[in-house]
Amino acid sequence: MESSKQTDWVARSLKSVWHPCTQMQHHETVPLVPVSHGRGAWLYDAEGRRYLDAISSWWVNLFGHANPRINAALKDQLDRLEHAMLAGFTHEPVITLSERLSALTGNVLGHCFYASDGASAVEIALKMSFHAWRNGGLSDKQEFVCLKGGYHGETIGALAVTDVPLFSDAYGPLLRRAHVVAAPDARAAQEGESAADVARRAARELEALLQERAGRIAAVIVEPLVQCAAGMAMHDPVYLAEVRALCDRFQVHLIADEIAVGCGRTGTFFACEQAGIWPDFLCLSKGISGGYLPLSLVMTRDAIYDAFYHSDIARGFLHSHSYTGNPLACRAALATLAIFDDDDVLNRNRVRGARLTQALAPLAAHRQVRHFRRRGMIWAFDAVVDPAEAATFSRRFFAAALQHELLLRPIGRTVYLMPPYVLDDDEIDGLAARTQSVFEQVVGT
Ligand SMILES: *Cc1c(COP(=O)(O)O)cnc(C)c1O
Repeated sequence: MESSKQTDWVARSLKSVWHPCTQMQHHETVPLVPVSHGRGAWLYDAEGRRYLDAISSWWVNLFGHANPRINAALKDQLDRLEHAMLAGFTHEPVITLSERLSALTGNVLGHCFYASDGASAVEIALKMSFHAWRNGGLSDKQEFVCLKGGYHGETIGALAVTDVPLFSDAYGPLLRRAHVVAAPDARAAQEGESAADVARRAARELEALLQERAGRIAAVIVEPLVQCAAGMAMHDPVYLAEVRALCDRFQVHLIADEIAVGCGRTGTFFACEQAGIWPDFLCLSKGISGGYLPLSLVMTRDAIYDAFYHSDIARGFLHSHSYTGNPLACRAALATLAIFDDDDVLNRNRVRGARLTQALAPLAAHRQVRHFRRRGMIWAFDAVVDPAEAATFSRRFFAAALQHELLLRPIGRTVYLMPPYVLDDDEIDGLAARTQSVFEQVVGT
């Protein structure tokens, strides 16, 4: 009975739902999991089998599924105000959320502009940068710089600052491509070089570009500390300090895309804090609503805000989304921020993180594991596999992980863990042991 419900859901989904980031034909062999409910770090399928959500459902879920505190906040908000337009109107959740986030930057980034998804936040930052320069009389600044392997979303504008060959090969003709400079990926270290050396070397390439072209460049966009979609490529914080200094020197904006790395993921609330810098634009999404509702925002400085402040409507920022500042999403975000405070989350994650790192030590020593790395609540390593088997590694790993009650979805040959901030000791130890079992099942012992 239950089993036929599961089969039925899969068949109906494959017929009518076009799934994201999926070659649908692969579902002839790769399982599609119908989720019936979630609780804490676990997702349950229609047959009652469970899966530890070790990648936080694409990096969004911070405090587990069906979190009682976020649920309560949303139920309360639902009976007050589900939504109202944010042009000409305002409401308490969006005001308080803006104030609280600004305070987390010491009010350096004191102005919050809202949208619903990460790609839209990136579009907003790009448009705002260009328009701020134009309002200041520098209308030649129309170009952007991104990093090799950088990922900033998949709408046309965001794709233009995204360097993922699969996408640029497919949609390249539609894009106004950005300049691509070296990534500070610590794995690129040559004999005797430290991660900081790699970072400084990469910064010199950006310097050379700015020296030549800063008059035409509006902004540099980076994913601070971890280029996630590139395969959890990590870099030394000194890179961000170098880029900040270069942007100041050459009059170019710095956009920090903290959509994946913000909200405590790298160990501090904002990744930029670890470099002691603030960008001109900071994009947040994914974890900000606790993984409950689509919400994104761009935080910026007084100087940018002032560049738009005028009686002329065309000098104002021209951008809107129907669901801008949705009260339910903002309430979910406020409940999420409250958990950070009430549970001393950043400190407790240090303890959780140390335990998981230790539990993963045997796997890190496996002879087919390279570049085991960690930053905050992100762990990753590269699997050494036969070139002939590399293309299907991720899919085979995903399927094997399901058999071990794990949701894990490698990026190419990079296996990563990005768990929610709720794992207890048993879950941490189980996650490490099972990840090792899956790895050994897929590549051998
Ligand atoms: C996920 C992501 C985006 C895009 O966010 P969406 O909500 O998927 O549009 C942008 N930048 C980074 C760094 C991301 O990880």
